Amino acid sequence: MKDWKNVWILAEVNHGRLSPTAYELLNAGRKLADDLGEKLCAVLLGSGVKTWAQDLFEHGADVVYVCDAAPLAQYVDDVYAKTLAAMIAQYKPNKFLLPATNLGRSLSAKTAIFAGTGLTADATEVVIHKEDGQLHATRPTFGGNLMATITCARTRPEMCSLRPMAYAKAARVSGRTGEVVEFPFDAAKYTSLAQFIRFIKSQGEGLDLSEAEVIVAGGRGLGKPEGFALLEKLAQRLGGAVGASRAPVDSGWIEYRRQIGLTGRTVKPKLYIACGISGQIQHMAGCSGADVLVAINKDPQAPIMKMAHYALEGDLYEVIPAMLEQLG
Ligand SMILES: Cc1cc2nc3c(=O)[nH]c(=O)nc-3n(C[C@H](O)[C@H](O)[C@H](O)COP(=O)(O)OP(=O)(O)OC[C@H]3O[C@@H](n4cnc5c(N)ncnc54)[C@H](O)[C@@H]3O)c2cc1C
Repeated sequence: MKDWKNVWILAEVNHGRLSPTAYELLNAGRKLADDLGEKLCAVLLGSGVKTWAQDLFEHGADVVYVCDAAPLAQYVDDVYAKTLAAMIAQYKPNKFLLPATNLGRSLSAKTAIFAGTGLTADATEVVIHKEDGQLHATRPTFGGNLMATITCARTRPEMCSLRPMAYAKAARVSGRTGEVVEFPFDAAKYTSLAQFIRFIKSQGEGLDLSEAEVIVAGGRGLGKPEGFALLEKLAQRLGGAVGASRAPVDSGWIEYRRQIGLTGRTVKPKLYIACGISGQIQHMAGCSGADVLVAINKDPQAPIMKMAHYALEGDLYEVIPAMLEQLG
C-alpha cells in the first residue's frame, strides 16, 4: 500500500472542450491531497489535449499526466480504460477521482475493472479518514433514503466518480505551473472490439442544466404539463434553462433529465426561480447551491418561501406573465 501515492483526477475533455467538472475535481482533490501531504495530479487523455495542462496547473494541479495521441481523438470505452489502467499500473496513484458524467461513469467502471480495484460511483462528498488515510466517499442510496459512506480498504487506487456540481470550481491562480509527464499511447495494447463510427448530437434539447446560469424550475403547482410552456418563455427571456421538481417528472409532464434534487441533478446557477415548488428537502438538495433563489408560491407557509432570497407570494400564472411584461 505504501507504494501508492498522490491524488489523481480525470480532466475530461469532450469534443475539444475541457469539462467544467475538471475544476470541481481539482477543488475536491486539492483538499484530499493536502490532508494526505501528497501531490494533486490531473490526467488528460485525447488528441490535442496537452494544451489544457497550463489551465489545470492554474487551478491547483501539481502534475499533469498526458496521453495525447490521434487514436484517442474519439472516446471509445475500452481504449480509454485500458490506457488509464496502464497509467495507474505505472504511476500507482493512491486515490483517483473521475467525474460522474456520462463519459466518466462509463470510463470509471471499466477502468476499475482493468485496474483490479474498487469504485464508489456517483458520490456527493469525499474526505480522507484521519486515522487510516482511507478515502471515505458518501453517496445517496436506496433512492435517496439513506446516505452511504463507502470505503475500498484492500486495493489501490481507491476510485470514485463524483457527481457534477457537488463541489465548487477551484479558484484560478494565474501563472501557477507544474510538471507535465507524457505517457506514450500503445495502439497494439489499448484495443477495443468497438469502433467509433460517428457522433450524433441530439436535437432540440435546449440549454443543458449544468451550463445554465439561470434556471426556471416548475413543480406540482403548475397543475398541468402546459404550464412548462410559460416557464420556457421566462427561461428563454432570461437566457436560461427549464428544470423541474420530481412531482411533474413522475406525472410525465417533463423528462427525467430536467429533474433537480437528490435523485435528479445538482445545479449551481446564478439565479434559480422555483415556481409552484414547495421546497422539500429532496428538492433543495439539488438547488441550494444557487447564488440567488427566488420562489413563486401561493402559500406563504411553504418551506421554500423561508429559504428563498426573494419570496413572491401569488399564483404563478399571474406572477410570471407580470415578470415577462416587466422584462419587455
Ligand atoms: C427518496 C426520495 C427522493 C426524492 N428525490 C427528489 C428529487 O430529486 N427532486 C425533487 O424535486 N423531489 C424529490 N423527491 C420528492 C420530494 O419529497 C417532494 O415530494 C417533491 O419535491 C414535491 O414536489 P413539488 O414541490 O413540485 O410539489 P408539492 O410539494 O406538492 O408542492 C407544490 C407547491 O406548489 C404551490 N402551488 C400550487 N399551485 C400554485 C400556483 N398556481 N402558483 C404558485 N404556487 C402554487 C403549493 O402551494 C405547493 O407549495 C424525493 C422523495 C423521496 C422520498
